[in-house]
Amino acid sequence: GTLLAAYLPVLGASEKSLRSLFWFRRDRRIQDNLALKKAAEASAELHTLFVFPRWMQQRSLLRQHSILESAKALGDSLPGGLSVAQGNPAQAIAEYCRKHGIEKVFATRSFDTEGIAIQEEVQLELSELGVALELVDSYYAIEPGTIRKDDGSPLKVYTPFYKRWALHGWPEPVQMDVAAVNWAPAMQTDWPAMSAPPPFKVKAGELQALQTLDRFLEKVSQYHEQRNRTDLSGTSHLSHALAHGEIHPRTILARLGHSEGEEVFRKEIAWREFYADVLYHNPHTLHEYLEPRFGNMRYDDPEQHAQKLEAWKQGKTGYPIVDAAMRQLVQTGWMHNRARMIVASFLVKDLHFEWQVGARYFEEHLTDHDPASNAHGWQWTAGCGTDASPYYRVFNPVLQGEKFDPTGDYVRKYVPELRHIQGGKVHQPWLLVDGLAHGYPAPIVDHAQERDEALARLEEIKVR
Ligand code: FAD
Repeated sequence: GTLLAAYLPVLGASEKSLRSLFWFRRDRRIQDNLALKKAAEASAELHTLFVFPRWMQQRSLLRQHSILESAKALGDSLPGGLSVAQGNPAQAIAEYCRKHGIEKVFATRSFDTEGIAIQEEVQLELSELGVALELVDSYYAIEPGTIRKDDGSPLKVYTPFYKRWALHGWPEPVQMDVAAVNWAPAMQTDWPAMSAPPPFKVKAGELQALQTLDRFLEKVSQYHEQRNRTDLSGTSHLSHALAHGEIHPRTILARLGHSEGEEVFRKEIAWREFYADVLYHNPHTLHEYLEPRFGNMRYDDPEQHAQKLEAWKQGKTGYPIVDAAMRQLVQTGWMHNRARMIVASFLVKDLHFEWQVGARYFEEHLTDHDPASNAHGWQWTAGCGTDASPYYRVFNPVLQGEKFDPTGDYVRKYVPELRHIQGGKVHQPWLLVDGLAHGYPAPIVDHAQERDEALARLEEIKVR
């Protein structure tokens, strides 16, 4: 009895004996963070580190700012603050471990092409130091690679994926007691400087994400009716928080009931999980065609056709819904989902550029950029992806505008040259005497003609 009693405290301590490092990635939150909870439970002393991505300087000011604000909010919420580094994650993490005598590193496991490559580099670098990297959980309700057909093969079509995904279910959110953790104080506080102040302050962080969810849940019952309207704010705007991991989808799903709005919303969350699954099984599709024959189609060269590409980027194509959307992207770092489909279709089918040209521009500007959703959102719209809208279905930008911005408010909000036009007439300014009077351009291409051109190019790659 006495012997056991003497050993007990020692045994207790050995469970929590490690000096560990938690490497924050796209999981910048404290609650419902399974990997962080596991690290906390195993550690006598827990250090934290965020490594700013290598590519950060090549992104728009707004996007850089959103990453910085997200990390800052995380740092403010951690009792010990957050250490930061820049550059190569493998080197930065190994150096931290060497300097501070770290015995084990914990992180959330990534399932996207680049995330996997990075965690493998980190693992290799750390193994030379004799430090283990434990990868836990994922950024998804259900880990990519889990949902499969009866024969074990991955699903290629969304609807059957959704059915199995919903049936499979997901764990409840996990909470942790922040006060029970021995957080090491931040050792590296050399935060990157911005080259210029951003146009406005991006709202980021875990608390902000939970408030965004609360606000959205008050109107979720109308989601199915309003989500496609670009002139209303009918969607959750949770994509930023999900992309940075300021909220876990478990936390969102746990709050949803079964109204029609909630059912449709759950299906959108599942699109994110589906695309992550598709990218996991097809890592090359981050940059390459899922349907390879589309790689053989005739496309216009971005350098030879720089002018029309520039018009698309700047929102000066002469098609109001396209231009409003492109300006929303650059001005706010976010774009409505319907508008993303419209501008993507326009770039690929009216301007004949490859989807990757557009995806790269989105990646530069979207503060909610997600590798799987962006690559596969583009491929779906371009007709070369999963479960794709057939290539021959080409969005008509005027009809799309009239249907999904019937008031014209969306166009007027982002295109001041068209503010003098009332109502839905704003979608065809060229029909009005004074429509182009304030500097708005005439259409740079004729949609009907380019639609025929796109279909002719499709004909050339048709499997005979
Ligand atoms: P809500 O309608 O409130 O949806 C809730 C959440 O469900 C979103 O935050 C998102 O995580 C998920 N979701 C909704 N629709 C989709 C979808 N079609 N595909 C995947 N996930 C979805 N989403 C990104 O998060 N990052 C991207 O980089 C991205 N690029 C896209 C590129 C193109 C060409 C297209 C067509 C879509 C892209 N999407 C992307 C999907 C979608 O447009 C955004 O997730 C959505 O507009 C975000 O706004 P919200 O949070 O208000 O959406």
